[in-house]
Amino acid sequence: MQIDKHTVVTLHYRLQEDNAEGELIEETFNDEPLTFLYGVGSMIPQFESNLKGKNAGDSFSFGISHQDAYGEYDNESVVNLPISAFTVDGRIAKELLEPGRRIPMQDQDGNHLNGTVTEVKNDTVTMDFNHPLAGVDLFFSGKVEEVRAATESEIAHGHVHGPGGHHHH
Ligand code: ZN
Repeated sequence: MQIDKHTVVTLHYRLQEDNAEGELIEETFNDEPLTFLYGVGSMIPQFESNLKGKNAGDSFSFGISHQDAYGEYDNESVVNLPISAFTVDGRIAKELLEPGRRIPMQDQDGNHLNGTVTEVKNDTVTMDFNHPLAGVDLFFSGKVEEVRAATESEIAHGHVHGPGGHHHH
């Protein structure tokens, strides 16, 4: 079966920066493969379009420019917040405030954002709300392990059930 809309795809991949010689960002080869419902917008569109028509056993490698992946790095998404914004149960959560640490936060409108701590001073914390891969050109390579037709309930729910997917309790 070929990868197409409403198939369930299982694959192993390696993600590197820029090209096949670039720094390794992540890989699944020593771990669980990635399983996803194809054609419902859960992946980067260019990731899906590069896999279309592939079969189990096929290898792949392709690049995706940052414009088509996680976008430009935006300097305006780096902000200084008062250290009091990191109060948990009435006290400053100092243990969270280490450079490089990702912290889930909310903006004034209640939207959930993940920020990375970049600098901590006495009364301010510099947070970077860019996606960690903003401004990074991506290079994917890997192998398709399995392609199967999605079930009606998977299509209705928009996600995979069973191994590698959602478990409903
Ligand atoms: Zn479901």
